[in-house]
Amino acid sequence: MNVLYMFSAAAGLIGFTSCLYFAFESHKEQETRATKMGMAGALVLFVLTMGLFIPFIKSVVLILFMAAFFLSLVLFIPAKPNAAALKGSKGYIKGVPVRPDERDTVFARFRSLVPGSKAYQTYYTDLHPEREAGDAKRRERGFLGKPGSIDHEYQPNVAMMHAAFSIPPMLGQEAFSNPEPDVNRADLTPEKAALIVKNFARHIGADRVGICRVNTNLLYSHQGEVHYDRGENWGKKIKDLPPYAVVFLTEMNYDHVLSAPHTPTVAESAHLYAKGAYLSTLLAKWFSYMGYTGVAEHTRNYHIPLPPLAQDAGLGEVGRHGYLVAPEMGARCRIFAVLTDMPLSVDTPVHLGVEEFCRACKKCADSCPSKSIPRDEKIIHNGYSKWKLDEDSCFEYWSKVGTDCCICMAICPFSRPNTFLHRVVRTFVEKSWAAQVFFPYVDNFLYGKRWRPKSVKPWLKYKEKPDKEEIY
Ligand code: SF4
Ligand code: SF4
Repeated sequence: MNVLYMFSAAAGLIGFTSCLYFAFESHKEQETRATKMGMAGALVLFVLTMGLFIPFIKSVVLILFMAAFFLSLVLFIPAKPNAAALKGSKGYIKGVPVRPDERDTVFARFRSLVPGSKAYQTYYTDLHPEREAGDAKRRERGFLGKPGSIDHEYQPNVAMMHAAFSIPPMLGQEAFSNPEPDVNRADLTPEKAALIVKNFARHIGADRVGICRVNTNLLYSHQGEVHYDRGENWGKKIKDLPPYAVVFLTEMNYDHVLSAPHTPTVAESAHLYAKGAYLSTLLAKWFSYMGYTGVAEHTRNYHIPLPPLAQDAGLGEVGRHGYLVAPEMGARCRIFAVLTDMPLSVDTPVHLGVEEFCRACKKCADSCPSKSIPRDEKIIHNGYSKWKLDEDSCFEYWSKVGTDCCICMAICPFSRPNTFLHRVVRTFVEKSWAAQVFFPYVDNFLYGKRWRPKSVKPWLKYKEKPDKEEIY
């Protein structure tokens, strides 16, 4: 047997084993179609490899192996790094940046505008009269619907959600930490300070941490969410915030996310909002005991949309669905931050191949039940090029199911568990031109395009509505 045949037989054996491994991992991830595809691939490779030993067909099989080998070399053509991604949020400026107004966000409109109040009148009379009728109808139906309605309001999971969401309000009043009186300003180099704060954040529970200077164009122009009877703050101009941001991610458990849009996802989101409120408040306090200001950015105290801030801090890229896509966890993460005036050395934005992959993938857009994610090219919004999510229709769906849905997060190929298999694929997507162009189609072929929730562990098993309509 000459060397070409031996080489092909070895390649066939490796391919066969890889397919079985893929099928095994996919089975663990409850990816039925991918499991079958892996098994089918293993069978085909087994038959082809055997064909190398059958005299009448072995030359044809050899040609097939050689063709596959030369085709696979295309995977090693390096990708051009995404110059825009490497500049962070500033790389996407395509006009004159306009600061977003928090008063326009869905949460600010429905939680902070009380009918009959001065803020309500100002918003719907002076600022956005075109929104009044639609928002009024929405208020009548209830903003977020009945918690857990998709699962018959299954009490254990809904209670996990309520319990976790009750924590940030306890901490929001402590979000601003001024320098403690009688404390000397710590005299650290920016490098040493960054080393300490990042390790401290990881030690107390953050999964990834990055630091950046705040791009002031990203800050909300006016305050829209008001809490603790501080109604007078509605519409206040946002200014004079500290210039550095310590941004951190907390990873959502895959076992919860795979049930999207059922109650385990919202229980996990709520858990991380509580954790993020605690971590950011603790970090902000640390800065105050170091003689600096710390402002905790969490669900009770936002001044800035966090995905582009995380991008600036080198934590990932923003995907078509508008979530951050981070290494190892993809979109399965929640972002929090602390703004501070302590000088810190900053991180550089990263390129992961997300934008290139998203162009062809569109899985989140195709699976979004409310069609809130665009399938088209990016648009210019507030002077930035982005895929613009329709927040209103997204939240409308949340109110229908009584959870925060998370289907787009769950179906994103980058969100798969951080196993060896997916790490290899992510590395190719980051570095290989062919992977960025062809893998979205391969992914759709292997895993399918539409989302179906998977089974959760027994302790999270919810009670499905017996009369459940088709809602995803
Ligand atoms: S699902 Fe696909 S298109 Fe959507 S963000 Fe993830 S990679 Fe991009
Ligand atoms: S959370 Fe659900 S409804 Fe909202 S954009 Fe994602 S998939 Fe669509």
